[in-house]
Amino acid sequence: MAFDWFWKAMGSSPTKNQKKSRAVVAQAGADRFAQATDEELRDHARSTIANAWPKASSGQRDAEDFDAPQPSVKDASALLAVLREAARRTLSMSPFDVQMQGTLRLLHGDVVEMATGEGKTLTGAMAACGYALQGKRVHVITVNSYLAGRDDKWMGPMFDFFGLTHGAIHEDLTSEERRDIYNRDIVFGAINELGFDVLRDQLITRNEDAVRADADVAVIDEADSVMVDEALVPLVLAGSEPGPAPAGRITDLVKSMEEGEHFHVSDDQRNVFLTDKGAAFVEKELGIDSLYGTSELDATTGSAAAVEQGAEAKPGDTLVQVNVALHAEHLLTRDVHYIVREGKVALIDGSRGRVADLQRWPDGLQAAVEAKEGLAVTDGGRILDQITIQALVGMYPEVCGMTGTAIAASDQLRQFYDLFVSVIEPNVPTKRFDEADRVYVSAEERNRAVIEHIVEVQRTGQPQLVGTQDVAESEELAEALAEAGVDCNVLNAKNHEAEAGVIAEAGRPGSVTVSTQMAGRGTDIKLGGADEAEHDQVVEAGGLHVVGVGRYRSARLDNQLRGRAGRQGDPGSSVFFVSLEDDVVAIGGAGEELQAKPEEDGLLPQKKVLQFVDHCQRVTEGQMLDIHATTWKYNKLIKDQRDIINERRQKLLTTDAAWEDLSYHDVDKANELKNRGIEQAVLEQAAREVMLFHLDSAWSDHLAYLDDIRESIHLRAIARESPIDEFHRMSIAAFKDLAESAVEKARETFSEVEIDEDGAHLEGLGLHKPSATWTYMVNDNPLSSGGGSVVGSIAQMFR
Ligand code: ADP
Repeated sequence: MAFDWFWKAMGSSPTKNQKKSRAVVAQAGADRFAQATDEELRDHARSTIANAWPKASSGQRDAEDFDAPQPSVKDASALLAVLREAARRTLSMSPFDVQMQGTLRLLHGDVVEMATGEGKTLTGAMAACGYALQGKRVHVITVNSYLAGRDDKWMGPMFDFFGLTHGAIHEDLTSEERRDIYNRDIVFGAINELGFDVLRDQLITRNEDAVRADADVAVIDEADSVMVDEALVPLVLAGSEPGPAPAGRITDLVKSMEEGEHFHVSDDQRNVFLTDKGAAFVEKELGIDSLYGTSELDATTGSAAAVEQGAEAKPGDTLVQVNVALHAEHLLTRDVHYIVREGKVALIDGSRGRVADLQRWPDGLQAAVEAKEGLAVTDGGRILDQITIQALVGMYPEVCGMTGTAIAASDQLRQFYDLFVSVIEPNVPTKRFDEADRVYVSAEERNRAVIEHIVEVQRTGQPQLVGTQDVAESEELAEALAEAGVDCNVLNAKNHEAEAGVIAEAGRPGSVTVSTQMAGRGTDIKLGGADEAEHDQVVEAGGLHVVGVGRYRSARLDNQLRGRAGRQGDPGSSVFFVSLEDDVVAIGGAGEELQAKPEEDGLLPQKKVLQFVDHCQRVTEGQMLDIHATTWKYNKLIKDQRDIINERRQKLLTTDAAWEDLSYHDVDKANELKNRGIEQAVLEQAAREVMLFHLDSAWSDHLAYLDDIRESIHLRAIARESPIDEFHRMSIAAFKDLAESAVEKARETFSEVEIDEDGAHLEGLGLHKPSATWTYMVNDNPLSSGGGSVVGSIAQMFR
């Protein structure tokens, strides 16, 4: 695109919007409506809106209208002044000018970058109000349900002031309660909760059973975390049906295999490869001829036809199971990638370092890890429908958001969401001092230095927040600190409310809090404790000190941690302790050489070492972006197909199209039913259910098929064909027949099924809907580099 350079420049240049925003905000002076009565204030609000109930605009914006005011807002500064005054009256907070700028940019559909503690909740709520006053329904998307409830309550009085209805969605609501809340003006909810409702609404056979009502705008908190880090996490709706066979004996077998001899692990820790010796070992132990099997080998090198035959194109089940079991055994580590809790494997969310309650791994990996831990293997079920968070966000005509670290994600936000970033200056300039990294040769030397450092700093009375890479590391560190005489709180994030409490108290003098990543931890650390009782004492000591143990895979995550110090102009400082053995350095710097002489304690003070660490992080950032782009290509196609199905589904739900078609194709049956005096409405609903049943099961089959070809497609990569093109070709071919064959089947069913006053009796033909459904998030396998499937690495085995 010719304008690429331009968008790039705009996406990362904060200055242009800021000048205009400041001018608009300047006219929205804090006392502009101070004298107005409540009623007058509401009148002012109404008069700032050009035309209530406008149609939401969508699509790409032109360069020219980038700074144009929202077409439905006549007077942006008056609107801001009204919002500001309303917040002051109802919430006892006087929004700062910078918050008003944030609100303005949100109303323009930007992602705003505001540092921690700048008051993003209020900023976002004022924007939600501004949108709702225009007659648009707003979803305020929070990081978790706890925050959705908290913010709805906290900001509620301001919405009430304008007569706007609002509420929060959470997991414990009934369908009726959800339906009621979704119909309100402003709805708070966690992204996964909102997504699960999208999926569940996809199963209904009566339009009035839908719980959701479409929203016009999404205001997304922690926007980078949701739209970038979790973008490709699929939300899944599954129904009861036996899952994949567990690895069983293979688990034990794999435990006895030796690294280097039977298999080796790739440098980037993403893949395990079976050696010839390893394959021979498995064959001998299991008493099978060939792990690879001849027909499967053919498929990997053979023609497209071989793959299209379906099942045969997949490598042998045993091979897949061995591979998956090796992954589970050697690449997934307990307390790093998952924990075992109450007899279950609970995944740890890679980007947040916390337990991801609803997540599962794909492709039998979950079962393999359960087998490895000797736990009951759970049923994966049949996938009825799924949607990625990126596709979910794409459903909103207008999107905006806020986060502490947007600039570093601006490329992704541009590329995947067509969103711009606006940087909002802090209310009071930051005084945080960020020290240069301290890089050590080994992790052991680094850890020793970290402990010494924390002990030393504690003597000064500065509170410390220590960021680690994973749960295991945080627990080891806490133990080592205890030995060194330092008591600390460890954030294990099992309960968001308790967590908020720990964080709120983390600013007390001399306190040490060890945590995994800070993204989405929704409370800020106040110096001197939540009540700020010992504020001055802590300021005197230098404010909050952040210690990073190892750099994260993106600078954005580092900055989320750093950003906890120095809020609202508080003093504060940060330093990262890195070792050359850290993942970021080992993976990002794989194959590169670094020559530098360490000091006695292992410290590498050379400037080039610091540059090398930065370089390694940029490499890992690039890898993640590549993975995102590739994986999205697969998901985009599925999303487009899903949209088509959805449209058709909607038509069947809201019209008599099903009856029209089916009665036309079996006139005799239709006449017979009518002659029996069955009501027209019942007949239409029966026809609808027949059509929807076959459409839904065709879609579910299609998803399973796509999964299969996505796996086998990797095998074809060796034949030097472009996997994504191949995937497109095959999935489009399969999709073309989907609707038609579903209709065919529906016509057959219609002719056979018994229909009476109670409707169609599908179960009489053995056509069962799943008796139970449940939802979960798939943790797209963090290890595979390509299409997100563990089977990807099998391609390598055939070299
Ligand atoms: P963020 O999400 O940006 O880190 P929060 O929305 O959690 O920040 O707000 C941080 C703190 O600042 C909260 O305790 C809030 O009450 C306070 N706050 C926000 N805006 C204002 C304001 N205009 N005046 C006074 N306090 C404010």
